[in-house]
Amino acid sequence: MANGVQDFYCDEVLSGNTKVERVLETEDALAFYHTRPFYDVHIVVIPKQHIPSLLDLNSDNQHVMVDVLSVIQQVANQMNEKYGACTVSTNIGEYQSNKHMHWHIHFGKRIRLEDGTWC
Ligand SMILES: [Zn+2]
Repeated sequence: MANGVQDFYCDEVLSGNTKVERVLETEDALAFYHTRPFYDVHIVVIPKQHIPSLLDLNSDNQHVMVDVLSVIQQVANQMNEKYGACTVSTNIGEYQSNKHMHWHIHFGKRIRLEDGTWC
């Protein structure tokens, strides 16, 4: 998390404080190019409402996941058609640096280490 920001997605991306390159957007979900990519092609998908993680889905917010999954599928389909492969993942617990559920869709080689330095 840059500059001690607690929730980069709510505080920076969804608020508009940090401009992102949008890939796809629906009423409840947003896909954009990672601002500090870890892979050659690295897109992030987030719900527009604050859901801390995959473990926090429930009957009140599960409708949001329909949009999120739809966007994930469309982005993954685009990446698969363009490059022939991609990985879709989300992190839980200590692996999750930003406590706003987000999904990574990426292709290609790793270009940055966990600590942010370039490979
Ligand atoms: Zn949030």
